[in-house]
Amino acid sequence: MTLLTVKNLTKTYQDKTAVKNINFEFQYGKCIALIGPNGAGKTTILRTLAGLLKPNEGSVTFTNMKPNDDIRKYIGYLPQYPVFYSWMTGLEFLIYSGRLAFLPKMEAKTRAEELLKKVGIYDAKNQRIGKYSGGMKQRLGIAQAIIHKPKLLMLDEPVSSLDPIGRREVLTLMEELKHEMSILFSTHILSDADEISDELLLLHQGEIVEAGSMSELRQKYQTSTIKLQFKENLEGYQSKINALESISNSYMERDVLLVKATDIRLARQEILTTAAQQNWEMTSFTLDRASLEDMFMKVVKNECNG
Ligand code: ATP
Repeated sequence: MTLLTVKNLTKTYQDKTAVKNINFEFQYGKCIALIGPNGAGKTTILRTLAGLLKPNEGSVTFTNMKPNDDIRKYIGYLPQYPVFYSWMTGLEFLIYSGRLAFLPKMEAKTRAEELLKKVGIYDAKNQRIGKYSGGMKQRLGIAQAIIHKPKLLMLDEPVSSLDPIGRREVLTLMEELKHEMSILFSTHILSDADEISDELLLLHQGEIVEAGSMSELRQKYQTSTIKLQFKENLEGYQSKINALESISNSYMERDVLLVKATDIRLARQEILTTAAQQNWEMTSFTLDRASLEDMFMKVVKNECNG
């Protein structure tokens, strides 16, 4: 079911068009990564969806949104560089955020306590935020973003500025939250998108240049390489594999034989059948997955050449 529809979104700063004609539909319960290099337009899209920037053209509509509804009711947003009052405690900050979101006093307190538990910083609820680690601050920021139970949580580069421990804490939290809510987050770190998201929107120079589920995109950009390992005698097997009809060439990398196929399905069939018939001592067979980085480089290169 569709949660959000973005149509023809365009945003220009003075004479710079940061985002051009963006269209996408966001389905309930998905976790979507907006990926792209610095300056691609990620923050502009998120700020526009959050109602903090007015688009020059286009619309952002939640399904069943009432006319004249404030879009901020539907969205929780954690900016790339959140600002906290470092003299407040985590609990005070969340109660304050709840009050700003028009929650009655008691409800704000109950919700704050509940969220401190959910994001895993309950034990530090009475500590000043100034004493929090980067990962704790980011988790507090996520709690603040969902205090009003929004339909969509948006996070702008949620882990980019964190050390490896903070990064892991926040990624783990996102992994948990994605079972409970729809999430849109931006990143330029492709492995984070790979780890957490169900779908990708790949952004380049303000335009969506590729979109789809991870499995669709992997299939589309699948390489034609198979990685093989044998108990021993790699050279002996190499000549036999090169002789197969579907193989164009192969090369060795340490103890792995990298096999390039002309037809990946046929190659798999031929290799596995021959291995079974001739009793090869094959210890590993892997279809090389297209990494997000390969995919990204291919798309961006095509765009630049086109
Ligand atoms: P980053 O990862 O560096 O934050 P981004 O993908 O989020 O990049 P945006 O911050 O949305 O990209 O910027 C898109 C383009 O718009 C960039 O070229 C940027 O320089 C420009 N831009 C962003 N904000 C403004 C502004 N307030 N005034 C003028 N130009 C801007």
